[in-house]
Amino acid sequence: MRWHPVVKGLHLGVRGRRGFADHRRNVRGDRTPYARGMMSHRRMADLRASELPGRVSDRSTLVLPLGAIEQHGPHLPYSTDLLIAEATGAAIVDAVGDDLDLWLLPSLAYTKSNEHAWNAGTVWLSATTMLAVLDDIGRSLAMTGARKLALLNGHGGNTALLNVACRELRLKYGFQTFLLHPFVPPDHGGASAANELGMGIHAGMDETSMILHLRPELVDMALAARNVPERLAENRHVRFGGSVSFGWLSNDFGPSGVIGDPTGANADHGKALFESCVATLSEAFAEISEFEFGN
Ligand SMILES: [Zn+2]
Repeated sequence: MRWHPVVKGLHLGVRGRRGFADHRRNVRGDRTPYARGMMSHRRMADLRASELPGRVSDRSTLVLPLGAIEQHGPHLPYSTDLLIAEATGAAIVDAVGDDLDLWLLPSLAYTKSNEHAWNAGTVWLSATTMLAVLDDIGRSLAMTGARKLALLNGHGGNTALLNVACRELRLKYGFQTFLLHPFVPPDHGGASAANELGMGIHAGMDETSMILHLRPELVDMALAARNVPERLAENRHVRFGGSVSFGWLSNDFGPSGVIGDPTGANADHGKALFESCVATLSEAFAEISEFEFGN
């Protein structure tokens, strides 16, 4: 029996045990639908080999969430970027996956987080390893017959490399490749809370609010503290998102590992952010599914 997304857009990002339990009860009043595949009929890894050729085709778009396992200050979990990418990907695929023929892939948890290499618990791939991993994943996925591959990136430190990978995968395997972010980081031109002076790069207001919405039990707001490199804000060019970029490590701005101000973070802001990013990216995926090269 194929589950129909009765609760489109509801609870879709909630990854806590409680969230899933509520979700199951809301739909059928017991645990069976989820156990039978609720929220999974568009997860490619849950298909059987006998099903794949009939379900995944040259009209499908494969969605690969990329997270990170890296320090997020004293108040947020290592899995922050992974949780956000995964929850966003799941919500989008559950909301518009049927209409747009999207298939969610298992997330890539370990990525290029060497700006946090100083911190125990951070687990990172080097640039060369990560390119090789993406090449292997691309080579394997090309056999499914899908022509479009969307990288849904929850970690800003991956972006430069993922742009390189998008072109490599285009050239080597003929994929049409796309790179999206749950929310655009300030050093990529995205917005940041006013008191972060445009520098809510890491574990600041937005990320902390997102996790307060998605997995509040993993956040310790008593340890949330502002750490904004205010001197940089005076620069016109050499600053995050400025015309001159610079190599940085997250402990270049102090020992906390935070770059931003999480102190005002709250679940309501996180919920609003999450819902708006799911809506925006769902729209983006509609364009992706129609996208063709040519005049
Ligand atoms: Zn992050």
